[in-house]
Amino acid sequence: MSELLQNLIKLQSLEFGEIKEKNPEAIIVELRGKIPAQIIAHYDRLLAKGKKGVAAVRNQVCTGCHMRVPIGVVTTLMHDTDIQICESCGRYLYLSDSTKTTGPGENAKSKPARKARSPKNSSQLVSTKAPTMSFAMDGLGQGKMHPSLRSIPN
Ligand SMILES: [Zn+2]
Repeated sequence: MSELLQNLIKLQSLEFGEIKEKNPEAIIVELRGKIPAQIIAHYDRLLAKGKKGVAAVRNQVCTGCHMRVPIGVVTTLMHDTDIQICESCGRYLYLSDSTKTTGPGENAKSKPARKARSPKNSSQLVSTKAPTMSFAMDGLGQGKMHPSLRSIPN
């Protein structure tokens, strides 16, 4: 997905309170600074009408107005070559995750994320370190360098 679209989606999520950030106002200002003025103007026009400025495309249908999106638009979104606007409701379009699950990249991305979050792995790391530490401590506890060195091959 293009950076511009990601910025637009994040901006909308922040403005609608869908995601929580410590300082949303600062991020909103920053995002609005990154997005071209023309696009922000169009986005704001939709918001002024009480609509969301960005809508996901699912199964080739715009989730904003539930109208079918031309396949050419979907293809452009898939290749990230340009941003696209829904012909029916005028929202900026992006492909939702469910549309992209056919790709193998989606599974590869989600698996390491689950591992990183698991608390089991971190406790395993601690427990494997602990015996090494006590072993080193035992060697030091003997006080004499040479006997402890001799005891290792035995
Ligand atoms: Zn639409």
